[in-house]
Amino acid sequence: MAQHPSDCDICRRISQIQSGNHPAFLAEFPTGYAVLGDNQFFRGYTLFLCKHPAPDLENLPRDLRFQFLREMALVSEAVSKVVQPHKMNVESLGNMAPHLHFHLFPRYLSESEPTKPVWLTMPQGDEAEKYAFDAARDAELVRQLRGALEEQNGEI
Ligand SMILES: [Zn+2]
Repeated sequence: MAQHPSDCDICRRISQIQSGNHPAFLAEFPTGYAVLGDNQFFRGYTLFLCKHPAPDLENLPRDLRFQFLREMALVSEAVSKVVQPHKMNVESLGNMAPHLHFHLFPRYLSESEPTKPVWLTMPQGDEAEKYAFDAARDAELVRQLRGALEEQNGEI
């Protein structure tokens, strides 16, 4: 079984949020934090980071696991309401960072290859740079997502 790494990227992001230094922070839920993804090629791409550093869902006690999944689904719903995608892709991998987190990717028919998995169609290198999160450019999206997430948070 994968062990939680000492130099964990997810813990680094959570520390940034807790110290008020994460520019793409969206919302705090009882079990996790929603942040906008580093790359906005898939407009509205959001991460839901578990407060508990478990590698996999199975490592969480059941009550906490189901609460985390419920909150993740509410975050996904909020993202979908705001960006109105053709489809949501919801993934939890953690092969690189074994600390439970979900990727919430809105998918659009305007993509060149909308039926492919995100990892095979997202731009790389210089092309990817064009879509890097930009606090100024993405401010309106962040504002809308924060509003929608605040409504969802009220349902917890
Ligand atoms: Zn971690």
